[in-house]
Amino acid sequence: MRIVFLGPPGAGKGTQAALLSKKFSIPHVSSGDLLREAVTEKSAIGLKAKGYMDRGELVPDEIITRIIIDRISRGDAKTGFILDGFPRTERQAKTLDESLSKVSLSLDAVIYFETSKNVCVERLAGRRVCGKCGVNYHIKNMPPRKDGICDHCQGELYQRNDDKVDTIENRLTVYSQMTKPLIDYYKNGGLLKEVSGDLELEEAQRDLSDILREAQAA
Ligand code: AMP
Repeated sequence: MRIVFLGPPGAGKGTQAALLSKKFSIPHVSSGDLLREAVTEKSAIGLKAKGYMDRGELVPDEIITRIIIDRISRGDAKTGFILDGFPRTERQAKTLDESLSKVSLSLDAVIYFETSKNVCVERLAGRRVCGKCGVNYHIKNMPPRKDGICDHCQGELYQRNDDKVDTIENRLTVYSQMTKPLIDYYKNGGLLKEVSGDLELEEAQRDLSDILREAQAA
């Protein structure tokens, strides 16, 4: 089952993908996480990507596309994957289609998280991430038991540079200009399914599980 999660930053794609990846036993492939790992490792790719990420801009298509294609070619993605945050441009979407079709594969569904702007801003501005294990929290909606400390590994929580208010605005603008057109791209390909990103975690999870089960049965 090969699935793409599409939607603005703050739509809840990452949180849902992490839960569903366990439920359906397929890897959660987050382009943002892979880039952040490269930044932490200070690899050549990470050094190139950092500035774009801090400004809330997209990293060049060639860089991210190579990372994702390599990742989904690995053994654990043979039975499928949930792509979260990729593709973000039409060029990325076309390259993904081409590279899957070279091995006689295709996407099964693209799930669009329709989300209001105020919900996205509120979620992003309140997000805190564990510096050690990467688990996400929200200061209001999903607070850790102890302020600033991860429940799972006792790591320290931090706010991502690109979750500061000025950068959030820029990310949402970039989304509208570069990524939103993919809704039509996938609608025309007959792959698009919609869920509301405004829903609470569990409600959205139920809708998504239904869609994924259908895709699995097809
Ligand atoms: P995310 O964690 O998905 O919000 O991504 C964080 C940042 O990584 C984005 O603001 C971009 O700078 C970069 N990024 C993630 N995915 C992509 C992509 N598919 N294309 C270009 N840049 C990306």
